[in-house]
Amino acid sequence: MISKFIGNTPLRRCDALSTRYHTNIFIKEEFHNPGMSAKDRPALFMIKDAIAKNKIKPGGIFVEASSGNTGLGITLIAKKLGYRAKIFISQSCSQEKINLLIKAGADIEICENSNGLHDFNSTQFKAQSFAAIHPNAYFTNQYYNNQNIRAHYQTTAPEIWEQTVGNITHFIAGVGTGGTISGVGRFLKEQRSDIKVWGIEPKGSILSHFLKHRTLPTSMIPFDAIEGIGRNFVPGSFDATYVDHIFQVNCQKTKHIAKEYYSQTGIMAGFSSAAVMASLDCYIDKMSFIPTDTVVLFFPDHGDRYISKLYNGSVYPANISSNITSF
Ligand code: PMP
Repeated sequence: MISKFIGNTPLRRCDALSTRYHTNIFIKEEFHNPGMSAKDRPALFMIKDAIAKNKIKPGGIFVEASSGNTGLGITLIAKKLGYRAKIFISQSCSQEKINLLIKAGADIEICENSNGLHDFNSTQFKAQSFAAIHPNAYFTNQYYNNQNIRAHYQTTAPEIWEQTVGNITHFIAGVGTGGTISGVGRFLKEQRSDIKVWGIEPKGSILSHFLKHRTLPTSMIPFDAIEGIGRNFVPGSFDATYVDHIFQVNCQKTKHIAKEYYSQTGIMAGFSSAAVMASLDCYIDKMSFIPTDTVVLFFPDHGDRYISKLYNGSVYPANISSNITSF
C-alpha cells in the first residue's frame, strides 16, 4: 500500500550551510516520498478523508488545482486505490512536473494562472467547476481542506520533533497553501512556544503583509514566480496563529543561490527549497542564530524537477567539473 511509503523522510545535518551560518542547520528531505514531494502527505489525508466520508464512490475522479506536486500525489494515490485524477495545473509550472503528471496517469488541463477561487481563469475555479458538473468527481481543494494542515500536524511535525530530540529552535518553510507552516508550526508551538516558525514567500506575495497587519495590501503587484509558494489571496489552510514571521525573497536571488549551492556542494534544491536557502543569505542578521541553535529547513521537493527552469545552462557540481566557477 502506497501510504506505507509516505512520510518518515530523513532529516540530515547540512555541514556546508552549518559552517556558512555558524549554527546547526538540518534539512528535512521531503523528496524521499513516493511522488518525490511533501505534498504526498496532504494528498493522502485528503483522499482518505473523502473516501471515509463517502464524498466519492469507487472509480470516481479526484480533482485538484496544483502547481504540480499535490497533483502528482493525488494522482499516484488515487490510481493505486482505483480512482481517476483530473489535475488543473498552471502554465507556469515546469515541464518536468507536467511530464510526471502525464506519466503517472493524470488527466491534466493547463490553465493561465492560479489566482484563487474568485478568478474565472484560475486552476482553483476550473477545478471546482469541473467537480460541480461531473458526477462522482470530488475536488480535494488543498487551499481550503483542513486535512492539509492535519497531515503536517500529525506526520511531518512529530517526525521533526523526534528527529531533533526536541532540540529544534527554528523551523523555516516556504508558504503556498500554508498547510506545512500551519500544521508544523502548531505542533511545534504546542511543544515549546519559543520555537521560531518562519515562512518564506516571493516578493510581491501578500501573506507577510497579512501576517503583520491582518488585512490585505491596498494594491497588489504581480509577484516573482517561485514554483509552489506565493499567493495573492489568503488560503483557508494558512493559519497565522502559529507563524512568527514571513520573509520575502526574490526569484533572481533564489536562482543564483540554487546554482551556487549545486556547484559548490552538490545539493540540488527544489525551487522553493532554494528560496528558503536564499532567505538565510538575505536575512542572516535578522535571524541572529547562535551556535547552539537547531535550525530545520523544509525542502518540499528536489531540483531535478526544475532543471529546465533553475539549473539550465551549466549545471556541473564543482567536484565534477572544477573549471566551472560561475554560472
Ligand atoms: N514548495 C513546493 C515545491 C510546493 O509544491 C508547495 C506546495 N504548493 C510549497 C512549497 C508550499 O507548501 P504549502 O502548500 O504546504 O504551504
